[in-house]
Amino acid sequence: MTADLTALDASVLASKIHAREVSSVEVTQAHLDRIAAVDGELNAFLHVAGEQALTAAKAVDDSLAAGNAPASALAGVPLALKDVFTTTDMPTTCGSKILEGWVAPYDATLTTRLREAGIPVLGKTNMDEFAMGSSTENSAYGPTLNPWDTTRIPGGSGGGSAAALASNQAPLAIGTDTGGSIRQPAAVTATVGTKPTYGTVSRYGLVACASSLDQGGPCGRTVLDTALLHEVIAGYDPRDSTSVNAPVRPVVEAARQGANGDLKGVRVGIVKELHSESYQPGVIASFDTAVAQLKELGAEVVEVSCPSFLHALAAYYLILPSEVSSNLARFDAMRYGMRVDDGNMSADQVMAATRAAGFGKEVKRRIMIGTYALSSGYYDAYYGQALKVRTLIARDFDRAYEQVDVLVSPTSPFTPWKIGEKVDDPLAMYLSDLCTLPTNLAGHCAMSVPSGLSADDGLPVGLQIMAPALADERLYRVGAAYEAARGPIARP
Ligand code: GLN
Repeated sequence: MTADLTALDASVLASKIHAREVSSVEVTQAHLDRIAAVDGELNAFLHVAGEQALTAAKAVDDSLAAGNAPASALAGVPLALKDVFTTTDMPTTCGSKILEGWVAPYDATLTTRLREAGIPVLGKTNMDEFAMGSSTENSAYGPTLNPWDTTRIPGGSGGGSAAALASNQAPLAIGTDTGGSIRQPAAVTATVGTKPTYGTVSRYGLVACASSLDQGGPCGRTVLDTALLHEVIAGYDPRDSTSVNAPVRPVVEAARQGANGDLKGVRVGIVKELHSESYQPGVIASFDTAVAQLKELGAEVVEVSCPSFLHALAAYYLILPSEVSSNLARFDAMRYGMRVDDGNMSADQVMAATRAAGFGKEVKRRIMIGTYALSSGYYDAYYGQALKVRTLIARDFDRAYEQVDVLVSPTSPFTPWKIGEKVDDPLAMYLSDLCTLPTNLAGHCAMSVPSGLSADDGLPVGLQIMAPALADERLYRVGAAYEAARGPIARP
């Protein structure tokens, strides 16, 4: 019974809970049991909140028993939350020592929306420190292992959420995507993840990495589950100054339409610059097969060129560190978390010692790069130049979307690599973000859907679908149609 419940889709669990065939408490307990059984090895969770989750589940069961309608389409279905959204009832560490044990004084808007939707939060998931990384190895609390092969990385920065889904520890999860941290982990664990249009999911209470790029988003094992969660978390929030005041896109309807229909009349563009011989052959083969399936569904497929995408990586790795160097200045040993002080230190010394001890290598690297890129005399040459490239990327997208409705590419140029393989080579690590970064720089939306296992190593590959700002429903229509045509995939 217990094992069965953790293998079910969130949409199926929701109907069973709402029909009172099974209780939310049973479903939640089944997932807590699963976490207890497997997470000692996988390390997907930094904190498990069994008691709180069961209390939330019981509230849903009681409300349904009293004859009330479910609070949301996912009421009663538990979820794993990336440890970068604040929660008043459990710690928020962002995978960093500097925030070890820190409990936020307020809930993120996203956390509040989950609570109001009756979604029990099982716990907080592991991540690269402050969301900087592509492998979850930059967590101060040890790496998360990929359930497909525990000698390999689960992607990053949201490797904990992706691994929790892939190992049936949670039927739903939340990630954040600044340069690919939802999509790349989804790709390498054969799960689904969406980076919604910038500004459509509140950043209030999302601990900032790079504010002009950060976006929370939904993760699931199917496109429909991801769509259901998308509608729960999206929406205008006056507490986030960059929140978009527009109606939530009809992504659930689009997912249902896609799953039951074809793609006739849908124009799909293959981005020439994101289809390179330098990618792993099995990834390219899987992508080409996926494109053939889109054609069979009736989509009109053309090749489009976005030349400035070749400079996206360079621009991103100036813009992101610049914003990081400013955002992370708030960890000053006075306001949050850790404090190193031998009693004889000046305030400056306390600050320096705390940051030296509290931040990991990658975070320090980016703070230094960003501080340099923003310094007077270099600002125009680095940060200013990167902003110009960002504009060119947006223009390339605009031109492409005059011709097509969605763009596609592999999500990641390679399948999950061995733990430790790239830790000493930051550039090699950064290359895994090649295909995902342009979307963030433009503020658009994109999704990763599993496209099967690579022929060269039997490991998961993801298909990336991109769409313009505020056209998130296109991702779900195309994603669900593709998922149905692809058929069921193997599970780890
Ligand atoms: N891997 C990318 C980076 O290291 C993306 C991170 C993210 O999306 N948070 O910056």
